[in-house]
Amino acid sequence: MLDLVIAGGTLVDGTGAPAQDLDLGVQGDCIAVLGDLSATPAHRRVDARGLIVAPGFIDIHTHHNDEMDGGIEHIPAADNYLRQGVTTCVAGNCGGAAFPIGPHLDRVDRLEIRSNYAVLVGCNTARHAVLTEERPATGAELERMVALVREGFEEGALGLSSGVAYSPFLTTTELIAMAGVAAGYGSFYASHIRSEGDGLLEAIIELIDVVRHSGAGGEISHIKCYGRDHWGKAEQALALVEAARAEGLDVTADQYPYTGCFTGLAGTLFGQETTLRAYRQGGMDRLLAAPLRAEAEARFAARYELLDQGEGIILAPLEPHPEFQGKTLAEYLREQGGDPFAATVGLCGQGHISAIYLAMCEDDVVTYMRSPHVMVGSDGHLRVFGKSFSHPRNFGTFPRVLARYVRDQGVLTVEQAVHKMTAMPARRSGLRRRGRLAPGYIADITVFDPRTVQDHATFRDGNAYATGIELVLLAGQTALAHDQPSPAGHGRVLRRGEG
Ligand SMILES: [Zn+2]
Repeated sequence: MLDLVIAGGTLVDGTGAPAQDLDLGVQGDCIAVLGDLSATPAHRRVDARGLIVAPGFIDIHTHHNDEMDGGIEHIPAADNYLRQGVTTCVAGNCGGAAFPIGPHLDRVDRLEIRSNYAVLVGCNTARHAVLTEERPATGAELERMVALVREGFEEGALGLSSGVAYSPFLTTTELIAMAGVAAGYGSFYASHIRSEGDGLLEAIIELIDVVRHSGAGGEISHIKCYGRDHWGKAEQALALVEAARAEGLDVTADQYPYTGCFTGLAGTLFGQETTLRAYRQGGMDRLLAAPLRAEAEARFAARYELLDQGEGIILAPLEPHPEFQGKTLAEYLREQGGDPFAATVGLCGQGHISAIYLAMCEDDVVTYMRSPHVMVGSDGHLRVFGKSFSHPRNFGTFPRVLARYVRDQGVLTVEQAVHKMTAMPARRSGLRRRGRLAPGYIADITVFDPRTVQDHATFRDGNAYATGIELVLLAGQTALAHDQPSPAGHGRVLRRGEG
């Protein structure tokens, strides 16, 4: 007797193969059988007529380890990913991991979490643990960094990440050495590359070099073209990926389906070298002292101009600030008056202030999405509904792809979209028993209504749950039904080799 039959639905199995009308049977925590199960006894039957039955979505790019902002140890019950149909979240992206990995995963194991949780080990974190000076590492230092990365893999990391843009002092040589560890585990290296605007193509070439010389798989994180001057470069960026793949290198990318990115507001004030170093070492005071102030002002002026005199900067504080959250910097300036640079410095002094930067264009989002080598990843954070200002991706990424880009615009077929959310990230991150609907796979399953699935979060109001997610199973347990999460969390920690 089966535990559960999901009957009458349209199965999109994750591989990209055409959808099939089949029943799906679950036994224990696994998918047991696909086929006509109308005469097969089961403890429970779910009517899925008119609905798509897919593997649970896997978000390969999250920041759920970030305890400053949406950390899983801080808000384990946050359900904004489960409610998108996401059953597994991979954290530790962009170079920052929760170090040490083992104790972090042990602590998360003891929590009741909503979606499965896995991590990458971070190059930036490993470097920072060994040296804080901003110069190339010595041979001995690099050996220690490599040892820390290995420790992260031994403790369960699925892969390696870097945030080269956040630590421009990381050299290609260091990255190749650390990625070599990932290669030894048959794993991958994900990178927030050195530049997503001016130096986009060079940065992709660097990532490809790291892949070529280390033997690791490569993942370009949240691929985009940042800044109007670089719009339209998506095709060139993808041509580099294609060329690398033609050479036999396993290079892929992930993207979120939005034209706005999200990062600290202070980032408008410093560049990659001198001013960043000063800010890291001495904070805003040091940055604003002579002789760097002029450089910071110039940097800010360029950003302000690029982002339509502040119309393209939406203020997003972590703590509630009703007086400015959700307003553009331009609106804030019209209300408060004053000089844009001084006002921004003032805002940065009011706590953990980030911003959404409307720096990308829709054409590039679509161009990247059409590539078979680009999967879906939110680049987001856990959020407790209504508690803080949120980028819409935290609540809407996966339903938005299904609604806007599959149903409304036909950019992708539902099979392609589901593939980018399931088997593709599962393969990339080494999750061997997830991401497909097939007997023997873990019964992480998302059932949605293709006619009604919809994201509702916007840049101005990111706190809005998606709708149209009818059922989510985590290892055969009901985690959500008709958009409502079950009271208990059914997520698990997935360590390398276990997933
Ligand atoms: Zn990043």
